[in-house]
Amino acid sequence: MAIALVPGSFDPVTYGHLDIIRRTKGLFQDVRVVVARNSSKSSLFTTEERVEMLGKLCAEMDRVVVDSFDGLLVDYARQHGATAIVKGLRFVSDFEYELQRALANHRLNSELETVFLPTGLQYSDLSSSIVKEIARHGGAVEGLVPEIVQQRLRAKFALGNE
Ligand code: ADP
Repeated sequence: MAIALVPGSFDPVTYGHLDIIRRTKGLFQDVRVVVARNSSKSSLFTTEERVEMLGKLCAEMDRVVVDSFDGLLVDYARQHGATAIVKGLRFVSDFEYELQRALANHRLNSELETVFLPTGLQYSDLSSSIVKEIARHGGAVEGLVPEIVQQRLRAKFALGNE
């Protein structure tokens, strides 16, 4: 049965990501949401914190597992028998970047397909970086991220350890 990966930085997870995860679950038998450890982006939350938040939010979703990965996504896919990578697309800039990644992954493993899902309309302008920017300056992030993420953001910025 087909296993799909939903990879990303998830720094932190937003309603846009959760929408993509739910829709992926509707298309594939099993879903592995994987947090990239070796992201070149410097992150606000540690990998463990990002995995923990995602784990709590996906706990009610059967057939969805949360994990992290290091190194090449194609190697992780091989190890776990995944045949598809699902990516959400918001802007043309997402497409340019993601198309390059998809072609590189396909070159490394021709049995691994990348599937693009268009963003949910209400989430098209939503990104982890926008959420962090708003939260850093004390703005309201309700409607953008779940309560547990709001709490973590408040704690992070209150401690000033961003
Ligand atoms: P971000 O750009 O928010 O930092 P990530 O690196 O965590 O995102 O992204 C992982 C995947 O989730 C990417 O494929 C990205 O396009 C997708 N994604 C992020 N936010 C949204 C959204 N609001 N709607 C659809 N897809 C999204």
